[in-house]
Amino acid sequence: MQGTEGDRRRFALDSPVDRRPIAEFEVDSRIDVETAVARARAAQPGWAARSTSERAKILRKAIDVIVAHRADITQTIEAETGKPHVEALGVEIVPSCDFLNYWTGRARRDLRPHRQRLHGYLRPFKKLYVQYQPLGVVGVITPWNAPFVLTINPVVQALLAGNTVVYKPSEVTPGSGEWVARVLHEAGVPDDVVQVVRGDGETGAALVDSAIDKVCFTGSVATGRKIASSCAQRLVPYTLELGGKDAMIVCADADLERAAAGAVYLSMFNTGQVCMSVERIYVVDSVADEFIALVAEKAAAVTCGPGAADMGPLFWDRQLDIVTRHIADAEEQGAKIPVGGARVPGDGLYFQPTVVVDAHHDMQIMTEETFGPVASIMRVRDEDEAIRLANDSRYGLSGSVFTKDAAKAQRIAARLITGSVVHNDSSVIYGVPEAPFGGRKESGVGQVNGVHALRGFTHAQPVLIDRWQPARESIWYPYTDRTIRDLDQLIQHGFGKKLLRRLLS
Ligand code: NAD
Repeated sequence: MQGTEGDRRRFALDSPVDRRPIAEFEVDSRIDVETAVARARAAQPGWAARSTSERAKILRKAIDVIVAHRADITQTIEAETGKPHVEALGVEIVPSCDFLNYWTGRARRDLRPHRQRLHGYLRPFKKLYVQYQPLGVVGVITPWNAPFVLTINPVVQALLAGNTVVYKPSEVTPGSGEWVARVLHEAGVPDDVVQVVRGDGETGAALVDSAIDKVCFTGSVATGRKIASSCAQRLVPYTLELGGKDAMIVCADADLERAAAGAVYLSMFNTGQVCMSVERIYVVDSVADEFIALVAEKAAAVTCGPGAADMGPLFWDRQLDIVTRHIADAEEQGAKIPVGGARVPGDGLYFQPTVVVDAHHDMQIMTEETFGPVASIMRVRDEDEAIRLANDSRYGLSGSVFTKDAAKAQRIAARLITGSVVHNDSSVIYGVPEAPFGGRKESGVGQVNGVHALRGFTHAQPVLIDRWQPARESIWYPYTDRTIRDLDQLIQHGFGKKLLRRLLS
């Protein structure tokens, strides 16, 4: 809900648990955003002048701050999202500490200048060094589904690389996002080095249009497109981590107990509001009856509603509308719903844990991102059909293969057009910092995490050093017959002869 006071827009937040008002916040204007970016610009050289180890040391202290304030941080997250405490701890706090620990531990190694061995053709004449320069001011824009971890992870990576950061958390979870700046300031990061701006899409658009040097965006495909076109106008680099419709393939040789438990948990934890939630399940016909029975039994046992241990509400009303619409469409088109399928009565935004069977690709539930607690199952003839259907999507974020045969999982993975693939599990992939994470097709542009993550917030600057410093290079002016003869000999004898070609490679 929004209003204005003076020239300022204001937002009122209510609890997804019972719709009671919980907070109000003031929206930052375009001028506020530009002021924050100017302060970040002024602070950047001082931050970059510190050594990587010094930056890492400060940021490592953030782990102690999170540990000390975990009850307050999770309280804000739970108030804004209604997540059960287990999910506030397990989805937000644990991976945030792990990311901080991991990135601060490897920053020096990843960011130090290094010599790159040249190939034989150039090696006698030149030496190559690569050094990593911060980009300047990075704008980070994040969603509401995991508002703390999805903010702190890119912010910390950008800071370690020597950038300053202005970030905008979602208007649905501003307090949870704001904790990131509070934690980092308490750890010793100077105020202007990391700043938060508050607001909705208008504030986000102002940040993208401001004088920043990179945008790191996590959110929907629709917003990602807008950001890409704004960045294109100014030729500003960006990464886009967008939506998904991830497929889970259940092979005939899968451990069906694990596959069914995974299908329920991985499509329903965080109330199904995870970018790499299992959103489509393809099960091979020979084991489909047993698998569906197990999924139905396990989904029926998931507790949901105010005070329930397992599942919280959807985090905001727009999400409830989408889930309701997808279920209605599936039912109209002949799907069976053995478990759930409706909103939980009461004021909160609870939707029952739901199993959809006999789903097919004319249904929204199998083609559009649902982002709700729904396990949608389709029977397939065999693994080839599962792979074909899994790839029949405009999304390509992640995917999973359930089988006892790890080599088969790898073979199937190679045929899936997705950013990543996980064997016998799924969403855990974002929590693996070594794994480059990013979507294919409409699920994103670029990657976060992985061994090049910190370098993604830098410019890799090659510096080519002259070994011998001759008065001139043989190719420089004046061009003479000798220049032509030398080049021709290089081509004939160097590249034309297999042995020498090997030496030049
Ligand atoms: P959203 O695109 O509506 O909003 C994301 C953020 O962008 C918010 O902070 C919002 O205020 C801001 N924003 C909105 N319009 C903007 C504009 N024109 N310019 C700049 N910023 C703007 O997405 P959401 O509903 O908050 O998040 C859910 C989506 O995020 C889902 O599609 C989900 O799959 C995706 N997601 C992806 C990942 C990933 O890593 N790939 C992770 C989590 C969520």
